[in-house]
Amino acid sequence: MRDNNFLTEMNARHLWHPMAHPGEMQANPPKIIIGADGVSITDLEGHTTIDAVGGLWNVNLGYSCQPIKDAIAAQLTRLPYYSAFKGTTNDAAIELSVRLAGMFGPDGMTRAFFTSGGSDSVDTALKLARQYHRLRGEASRTKFIALRKGYHGTHWGGASVNGNPAFREPYEPLLPGCFHVPAPYAYRNPFDESDPERLAALCLSALEAEIEMQVPSTVAAFIMEPVLGAGGVIAPHPSFMPGVRDICDRHGVLLIADEVITGFGRTGDVSGARHWGVKPDLMCLAKAMTSGYFPMGAVMANDRLAEVFEGDGGAMIGTGYTYSGHPVGCAAALACLDETERLTLWDKAAYQGARLKAGLQDLATRHDAIGDVRGEGLMCALEIVSDRQAKTMDPARAGRIFETTYKAGAMVRWSGTNLVMSPPLILTDADCDRIVSALDEGLGAVG
Ligand code: PLP
Repeated sequence: MRDNNFLTEMNARHLWHPMAHPGEMQANPPKIIIGADGVSITDLEGHTTIDAVGGLWNVNLGYSCQPIKDAIAAQLTRLPYYSAFKGTTNDAAIELSVRLAGMFGPDGMTRAFFTSGGSDSVDTALKLARQYHRLRGEASRTKFIALRKGYHGTHWGGASVNGNPAFREPYEPLLPGCFHVPAPYAYRNPFDESDPERLAALCLSALEAEIEMQVPSTVAAFIMEPVLGAGGVIAPHPSFMPGVRDICDRHGVLLIADEVITGFGRTGDVSGARHWGVKPDLMCLAKAMTSGYFPMGAVMANDRLAEVFEGDGGAMIGTGYTYSGHPVGCAAALACLDETERLTLWDKAAYQGARLKAGLQDLATRHDAIGDVRGEGLMCALEIVSDRQAKTMDPARAGRIFETTYKAGAMVRWSGTNLVMSPPLILTDADCDRIVSALDEGLGAVG
């Protein structure tokens, strides 16, 4: 293994990172992770921490899942690649489509279309939504509505429905016809409403007003994360997503659930939509589908779409990827889903999520830097402020706490003024307590 100085220097010279300033690599070098075991990671300096980020919201089964590693090795030996474009496919892709239709059947999902990751899944879902309306003779339905603070990946479609200006500004102009409405974010919102149920009603009214403003016959779909992840773990009141479903139905608008983070158990149920008792029309999946062991995603569609695409007036799906249905990814996903089901990871997420949130709430009684504690299932966030009364955001303080917490033994995710957690769902009580005590120490060190 090369030494830290060499790798840090080469990283600054040759490697550009997602969502990072290439000119700051020398001054703020990234942590170079060289090994992992169970739910822990080790950096080049030999410092081991619990990975409270779970890779990037994806490593639900931790880093030592032998069945996934074995499945990947076996598939590599038997058939490392074959395309799923018209005319051919592979057995692993077919097996996985059956498996996903079973797993997400209760959500109404019956058809799978494979992608290489979450951004692919989002752009594919947006395209399928438009094509669905076109095939039904409503080609005027082209617009998309999304939530402010929502995150939907970085391809052009996803970037256009993203609700965070930081990811939009460098690439404007984005896709025309994308509009945003307030998210049900109780800590900060334009209505100054802190009651989650009343806020949900206000946000629903804003959504309906926006659809009417745009003219319903021009709106293709509304896209939302059942729990907003990258935006800072914003869980709506339980009335929100069912209300969205009703509004979409009243106006002929498709509902796309972006389950790239929430799919496969993180909210405490198999899908985030199911967690809220809602059946979407399209579902975007990725991340935990292979627990991060292979880049892989899927779009799931319900019978409403299937009837149109497969019926008399149907047409070719004119989009897809070389790696759609990659056999190694499908084999990894099949093994991952076996383990996910065997361990009923959604139950573990519900249990450990409640435990972690309680630990974080306790920290908030002792550390003034914490303005808000949020969580749903095993996804949590601390919003860091410099003044609790004024709710003044303090990203620099969050950055310092991130560093001291890392030193104290837990990797959390520093995102603006938030510290975000999405640990592996195989977390034990002791692991959960380690995250909380590392944060306690990290917060104490910064003050
Ligand atoms: N959608 C959501 C909700 C996400 O959180 C992400 C990534 O974090 C994406 C889409 C994009 O996924 P990917 O980074 O795999 O392209």
